[in-house]
Amino acid sequence: MSNYKIETKCIQSGYTPKKGEPRVLPIYQSTTFKYDTSDQMGRLFDLEDTGYFYTRLQNPTNDAVAAKICDLEGGVGAMLTSSGQAANFYAMFNICEAGGHIVASSAIYGGTYNLLGTTMKKLGIDCTFVSPEADEAELQAAIRPNTKLIFGETISNPTLEVLDIELFARVAHKNGIPLVVDNTFATPINCRPFEFGADIVVHSTTKYMDGHATQVGGCIVDSGNFDWMAHKDKFPGLTTKDESYHGIIYAEKFGKMAYITKCTTQLMRDLGSIPSPNNCFLLNLGLETLHLRMPRHCANALAVAKYLKNNEKVEWVNYPDLEGDKYHDRQLKYLPNGSCGVVTFGLKGGRDVAIKFMDNLKLAAIVTHVADSRTSVLHPASHTHRQLTDEQLKAAGVNPDLIRFSVGTENVEDIIADIEQALKAATV
Ligand SMILES: *Cc1c(COP(=O)(O)O)cnc(C)c1O
Repeated sequence: MSNYKIETKCIQSGYTPKKGEPRVLPIYQSTTFKYDTSDQMGRLFDLEDTGYFYTRLQNPTNDAVAAKICDLEGGVGAMLTSSGQAANFYAMFNICEAGGHIVASSAIYGGTYNLLGTTMKKLGIDCTFVSPEADEAELQAAIRPNTKLIFGETISNPTLEVLDIELFARVAHKNGIPLVVDNTFATPINCRPFEFGADIVVHSTTKYMDGHATQVGGCIVDSGNFDWMAHKDKFPGLTTKDESYHGIIYAEKFGKMAYITKCTTQLMRDLGSIPSPNNCFLLNLGLETLHLRMPRHCANALAVAKYLKNNEKVEWVNYPDLEGDKYHDRQLKYLPNGSCGVVTFGLKGGRDVAIKFMDNLKLAAIVTHVADSRTSVLHPASHTHRQLTDEQLKAAGVNPDLIRFSVGTENVEDIIADIEQALKAATV
């Protein structure tokens, strides 16, 4: 499918029925698969033959959807997980073990910040956070001899900071390590990080990819570009024998597929977290319209951002596509067709007015979720980051007055009218 344009890939990639087979990707709701002889099955366990045997490792529905996302990103292999968090953990743990170190942008999703700052520390993996504004020297200074990867988000959730992918990739490669990018908010419709030097891309498919808030899921895609063997000593998991798989050396046996094969046969085998085939079917329906929805999300969000910018009740607005935004230059470079549908802003009067504003919204719903067809809104200081003091919030880059407004695909006049009436009600 790789010669088709991205819109065609959204619809056609991953599943091509043969004569007499179902036109629509079937849901293989089966844990297991049948073989005729004991030897046939044995060869699968030796990784001598490829074939399905147990859905924790592979399933035809899941594989078709993974192949579609892989094609959209321009990768060589992909693996689906049961959540974006699992995808982020596996993507990093696949190449970074106890004693290793990660350099990450501090402008990342709260769950991933905790994963890196707290939970992975308990596994003996250390992390240094750097500003998304870090220049080459600052990034280089954060790298240690045991650093295994650099991590960042194309557009950070919720702070909407745009990653300088080329700079981060350059520093990573200078040090013989890969750049891992969470591309959830941009989606491959708006940015394909491999084209700017990223080596591995991660997604929470829960967001725009699904687009309808029906399933929680994640995906890891490998570009196949990183040469593990050239940095043999840094990545022993890929370049030395895996005794739990008959002494296979992944990078030797699987070449460009080494990273994803190890992730599937080792991490998924031992840790689990597969998505259900039924959820993958729903995700696939979402992907079929991703190319139609993203431009609409972006156009609506830009209109909302402009409206807010010109409103005297609004203290500040962040939206990378807005002229004058701190990240506008990076948006033009990395996301020329638009960034995403999320806008953040603060109201005059701060936290209290923010809460009154939200309570008065009628169309926009207060939900934890972000990035689906329905306009939704969240106040991190009162919700996802509720346990933090104002000082801690500021340290995490989240203003206490920050409202995260996820602009849906409804008619934008209705969305703006809703904001207008809620602003009036909140500020009388
Ligand atoms: C939501 C999100 C995650 C976590 O994904 P889940 O599917 O909720 O586990 C990770 N990264 C980003 C950027 C997200 O927006």
